[in-house]
Amino acid sequence: MPNKTAAKKSLSYERKNGYERISAADLKKLEEVCRDYMAFLGASKTEREAHDEGVKLLLAAGFKDLDELIAGGASLKPGDRIFKSWCGKTLLAALIGKKPLERGLHIVGGHTDSPRLDVKQNPLYEDGDMALLDTHYYGGIKKYQWTALPLALHGVFVKKDGTKVVVKVGEDPGDPVFFISDLLPHMAGDQMKKSLAEGIAGEGLDVVVGSAPCKDKKHKEKIKYRVLELLKERFGVSEEDFLSAELEFVPAGLPREVGFDRSMILGYGHDDRVCSYTALRALLDLQKTPEHTAMVLLCDKEEIGSYGSTGMESNFFENILAEILALAHGKHDGLTLRRAMSASRMISADVNSLYDPLYPSIMEKKNASFINQGTSLSKYGGARGKSGSSDANAEFVADIRRVFDKAGVLWQTGELGKVDQGGGGTIALCMARYGMDVVDCGVGVISMHSPWEMAGKLDIFMTYKGLKAFLQDDRKAG
Ligand code: MN
Ligand code: MN
Repeated sequence: MPNKTAAKKSLSYERKNGYERISAADLKKLEEVCRDYMAFLGASKTEREAHDEGVKLLLAAGFKDLDELIAGGASLKPGDRIFKSWCGKTLLAALIGKKPLERGLHIVGGHTDSPRLDVKQNPLYEDGDMALLDTHYYGGIKKYQWTALPLALHGVFVKKDGTKVVVKVGEDPGDPVFFISDLLPHMAGDQMKKSLAEGIAGEGLDVVVGSAPCKDKKHKEKIKYRVLELLKERFGVSEEDFLSAELEFVPAGLPREVGFDRSMILGYGHDDRVCSYTALRALLDLQKTPEHTAMVLLCDKEEIGSYGSTGMESNFFENILAEILALAHGKHDGLTLRRAMSASRMISADVNSLYDPLYPSIMEKKNASFINQGTSLSKYGGARGKSGSSDANAEFVADIRRVFDKAGVLWQTGELGKVDQGGGGTIALCMARYGMDVVDCGVGVISMHSPWEMAGKLDIFMTYKGLKAFLQDDRKAG
């Protein structure tokens, strides 16, 4: 007689909170990974900063700059650890595997850009005895969320002679912060009748940066001029230098633990620095040379469609892979490159939405991800009839199940809301075009794209663990 309970267990698919299933060893490692992640997130408020933090970690782990290897005429062999920076924004890192590259790579790709307010090219003006900077929002935001909170300014001025001036104001406790005003409720009668989408307009997201005049009486706009004087003093720039700057207003402040039990993390830009960090950490923590070359891509521009030279729609991946092939094989031909790409497997590591008890109606509970039930695997995304989704092959999803289950990764399925409710895209499509298998997997997030997003620690750790298992998988079933 088969045991009835056991039979029932094996037949039905059950979901459970990950904290009830995690091992003691994993629980300890979870806190370590999350602590390191919080430090990374706090230091990575822009794609440039995430890139620089990534390079620091790679260098510390002995990864070599591909540009230097190419210049030195070096060759690549199994076990070599390399990275390549793309315009100081996008980053590629790899551990060369034992098998030839044409047998395919294991790639994890995340993105490091997050929704924010970009400073316009000619932004500075004075009105109502205040100086303000005009902004153009980047990525999908709910505009009303970005008013009445402290903002920090991060980015670069690039002067005509090529000099780059790094800007970071609003993060040190002694720094000033910046601010977008909102109407007081007493006088917001008309505003409050508008929809949430219309209550705050894109052109209404101007940031206060000063209110004290310059000493020199001859200037017409003394407050604006005072700000220019201060910018000159601190950064050596003039108003014209805004023309070639990339300055981003982001929420000021560091990530924090959430809850009495400290089981969650609140931070700006979990999307998608959480998958970017866990992917990079997974690669850094690989001890043994894998069978297949393990590669991690941290991309820019995902939030605006992956276009641009640093986005996944550009050919940077293909170009760099050709360089790696040339160094590894002594020569490079187009066919080997095509074979390497089409034989590759990829996890597009991006955040997913979580079931939110305050908004139950937009989720379909059987297929939604829940906080701390594990990393969230989505066979497909897209909108309406899966439009714009790469929809992974069942064969590949089955193999990911094998990889995750074998490694003891706690995972769940995820979907971006009910059918017809919404949808979204990731960089999966950009890679699926090469014919490689791609599936989406990453950390579930609450309040995605808001100034402060929340994620569960267990999900963050299990994403790290899952990505690591994938990167080192030898593709042998059983
Ligand atoms: Mn994302
Ligand atoms: Mn996003």
